Amino acid sequence: MKSLLLNADYTPIQFITNIRAFLLVHKGKAEVIDMGGKLSTWDNFIRTSSAEFYFPATIRLVNRINNWWRAPRFRKSALYTRDDWTCQYCGIDLNKTLATIDHVIPRSRGGDTSWKNCVASCKYCNRKKSNKTPPEAGMPLLKLPISPKPYHVWEGTKNIKWHDDWSAFIKKDI
Ligand SMILES: [Zn+2]
Repeated sequence: MKSLLLNADYTPIQFITNIRAFLLVHKGKAEVIDMGGKLSTWDNFIRTSSAEFYFPATIRLVNRINNWWRAPRFRKSALYTRDDWTCQYCGIDLNKTLATIDHVIPRSRGGDTSWKNCVASCKYCNRKKSNKTPPEAGMPLLKLPISPKPYHVWEGTKNIKWHDDWSAFIKKDI
Protein backbone atom coordinates (compact mmCIF):
# COMPACT_ATOMS: atom_id res chain seq x y z
CA MET A 1 0.00 0.00 0.00
CA LYS A 2 1.10 3.48 -0.86
CA SER A 3 0.51 6.91 0.56
CA LEU A 4 -0.36 9.96 -1.47
CA LEU A 5 1.91 12.89 -0.71
CA LEU A 6 0.42 16.35 -1.15
CA ASN A 7 2.20 19.67 -1.16
CA ALA A 8 1.28 22.17 1.56
CA ASP A 9 -1.27 23.69 -0.82
CA TYR A 10 -2.94 20.28 -1.31
CA THR A 11 -1.62 19.75 -4.84
CA PRO A 12 -0.56 16.12 -5.33
CA ILE A 13 3.15 15.40 -5.53
CA GLN A 14 3.62 11.64 -5.77
CA PHE A 15 3.04 8.28 -4.19
CA ILE A 16 5.45 7.19 -1.52
CA THR A 17 5.74 4.08 0.60
CA ASN A 18 3.69 3.77 3.77
CA ILE A 19 6.82 3.70 5.84
CA ARG A 20 8.19 6.88 4.32
CA ALA A 21 4.84 8.59 4.86
CA PHE A 22 4.78 7.44 8.43
CA LEU A 23 8.30 8.79 9.01
CA LEU A 24 7.48 12.16 7.44
CA VAL A 25 4.58 12.52 9.84
CA HIS A 26 6.59 11.23 12.74
CA LYS A 27 9.31 13.82 12.08
CA GLY A 28 6.75 16.60 11.87
CA LYS A 29 7.41 17.28 8.20
CA ALA A 30 3.94 16.23 7.12
CA GLU A 31 0.51 15.73 8.61
CA VAL A 32 -2.16 13.17 7.94
CA ILE A 33 -5.06 14.71 6.03
CA ASP A 34 -8.27 15.12 7.96
CA MET A 35 -11.18 14.08 5.75
CA GLY A 36 -13.91 15.87 7.64
CA GLY A 37 -13.31 14.45 11.10
CA LYS A 38 -11.62 11.22 10.05
CA LEU A 39 -7.91 10.92 9.39
CA SER A 40 -6.96 9.54 6.00
CA THR A 41 -5.30 6.26 6.97
CA TRP A 42 -5.18 2.64 5.93
CA ASP A 43 -6.51 -0.04 8.25
CA ASN A 44 -3.02 -1.41 8.89
CA PHE A 45 -1.00 -0.11 11.77
CA ILE A 46 2.37 -0.45 13.35
CA ARG A 47 2.88 -0.79 17.05
CA THR A 48 5.63 0.98 18.92
CA SER A 49 6.38 0.54 22.58
CA SER A 50 3.94 3.28 23.51
CA ALA A 51 1.24 3.40 20.85
CA GLU A 52 -0.26 2.13 17.62
CA PHE A 53 -0.04 4.21 14.46
CA TYR A 54 -2.22 3.64 11.46
CA PHE A 55 -0.38 3.93 8.18
CA PRO A 56 -1.29 7.22 6.54
CA ALA A 57 -3.13 7.08 3.19
CA THR A 58 -2.93 10.80 2.43
CA ILE A 59 -0.45 13.23 3.92
CA ARG A 60 0.36 16.86 3.36
CA LEU A 61 3.72 18.57 3.71
CA VAL A 62 3.82 21.20 6.42
CA ASN A 63 6.14 23.41 4.36
CA ARG A 64 5.50 23.93 0.70
CA ILE A 65 8.11 22.69 -1.79
CA ASN A 66 8.55 25.00 -4.75
CA ASN A 67 9.74 24.28 -8.23
CA TRP A 68 9.96 20.57 -7.74
CA TRP A 69 7.99 19.81 -10.83
CA ARG A 70 9.49 19.43 -14.27
CA ALA A 71 7.34 18.25 -17.14
CA PRO A 72 8.15 14.63 -17.85
CA ARG A 73 8.96 13.08 -21.18
CA PHE A 74 6.02 12.94 -23.55
CA ARG A 75 3.71 10.06 -22.74
CA LYS A 76 0.46 9.13 -24.44
CA SER A 77 -1.34 8.09 -21.29
CA ALA A 78 -0.53 11.37 -19.53
CA LEU A 79 -1.63 13.32 -22.58
CA TYR A 80 -5.05 11.67 -22.51
CA THR A 81 -5.35 12.42 -18.82
CA ARG A 82 -4.29 16.03 -19.40
CA ASP A 83 -7.04 16.37 -22.00
CA ASP A 84 -9.48 14.63 -19.70
CA TRP A 85 -10.15 11.87 -22.27
CA THR A 86 -11.99 14.41 -24.40
CA CYS A 87 -11.48 15.10 -28.10
CA GLN A 88 -9.93 18.55 -28.23
CA TYR A 89 -11.77 19.34 -31.47
CA CYS A 90 -15.34 18.05 -31.15
CA GLY A 91 -15.47 17.53 -27.38
CA ILE A 92 -16.73 13.95 -27.33
CA ASP A 93 -15.66 11.54 -24.61
CA LEU A 94 -12.86 9.25 -25.67
CA ASN A 95 -12.14 5.67 -24.87
CA LYS A 96 -9.15 3.57 -25.81
CA THR A 97 -10.66 2.64 -29.19
CA LEU A 98 -11.55 6.20 -30.19
CA ALA A 99 -8.56 8.05 -28.77
CA THR A 100 -5.70 9.14 -31.00
CA ILE A 101 -2.93 11.66 -30.67
CA ASP A 102 -3.22 14.58 -33.06
CA HIS A 103 -0.25 16.76 -33.94
CA VAL A 104 -1.61 20.32 -34.00
CA ILE A 105 1.04 21.32 -36.53
CA PRO A 106 1.19 18.10 -38.54
CA ARG A 107 4.39 16.09 -38.46
CA SER A 108 4.60 16.34 -42.24
CA ARG A 109 4.89 20.10 -41.78
CA GLY A 110 7.56 19.96 -39.09
CA GLY A 111 5.36 19.67 -35.99
CA ASP A 112 7.06 17.81 -33.15
CA THR A 113 5.74 15.24 -30.73
CA SER A 114 5.57 17.37 -27.62
CA TRP A 115 3.15 18.41 -24.93
CA LYS A 116 2.49 21.71 -26.69
CA ASN A 117 1.98 20.30 -30.16
CA CYS A 118 -0.12 17.25 -29.34
CA VAL A 119 -3.70 16.85 -28.24
CA ALA A 120 -6.13 14.03 -27.66
CA SER A 121 -8.42 13.66 -30.64
CA CYS A 122 -11.11 11.21 -31.68
CA LYS A 123 -10.09 9.22 -34.71
CA TYR A 124 -12.76 10.92 -36.83
CA CYS A 125 -11.50 14.44 -36.13
CA ASN A 126 -7.94 13.24 -36.60
CA ARG A 127 -8.81 11.85 -40.02
CA LYS A 128 -10.78 14.96 -40.98
CA LYS A 129 -8.00 17.32 -39.92
CA SER A 130 -5.44 15.23 -41.77
CA ASN A 131 -2.28 17.24 -42.50
CA LYS A 132 -3.81 20.65 -42.00
CA THR A 133 -3.39 23.12 -39.15
CA PRO A 134 -6.51 23.90 -37.08
CA PRO A 135 -7.25 27.17 -38.96
CA GLU A 136 -6.78 25.50 -42.33
CA ALA A 137 -9.10 22.68 -41.33
CA GLY A 138 -11.59 25.05 -39.70
CA MET A 139 -11.23 23.01 -36.52
CA PRO A 140 -10.35 25.23 -33.56
CA LEU A 141 -8.92 23.63 -30.44
CA LEU A 142 -11.11 23.58 -27.34
CA LYS A 143 -8.12 24.68 -25.26
CA LEU A 144 -4.44 25.37 -25.75
CA PRO A 145 -2.16 22.41 -25.10
CA ILE A 146 0.07 22.86 -22.07
CA SER A 147 2.72 20.90 -20.26
CA PRO A 148 1.08 18.38 -17.97
CA LYS A 149 0.63 19.04 -14.28
CA PRO A 150 1.77 16.48 -11.75
CA TYR A 151 -1.71 15.05 -11.30
CA HIS A 152 -1.81 14.21 -15.02
CA VAL A 153 1.15 11.90 -14.71
CA TRP A 154 0.35 9.39 -12.01
CA GLU A 155 2.40 6.27 -12.40
CA GLY A 156 0.19 3.26 -12.24
CA THR A 157 -2.70 4.04 -9.92
CA LYS A 158 -4.08 1.11 -11.91
CA ASN A 159 -1.64 -1.22 -10.25
CA ILE A 160 -1.82 -0.09 -6.67
CA LYS A 161 -4.50 -0.46 -4.09
CA TRP A 162 -6.74 2.57 -4.39
CA HIS A 163 -7.80 4.55 -1.32
CA ASP A 164 -11.14 6.34 -1.62
CA ASP A 165 -9.82 9.48 0.08
CA TRP A 166 -7.53 10.05 -2.90
CA SER A 167 -10.50 10.85 -5.14
CA ALA A 168 -10.60 14.26 -3.48
CA PHE A 169 -7.15 15.05 -4.90
CA ILE A 170 -6.42 12.91 -7.96
CA LYS A 171 -8.14 10.92 -10.64
CA LYS A 172 -7.81 7.18 -10.81
CA ASP A 173 -6.17 5.84 -13.96
CA ILE A 174 -8.59 4.31 -16.40
ZN1 LIG B 1 -13.45 14.64 -32.34
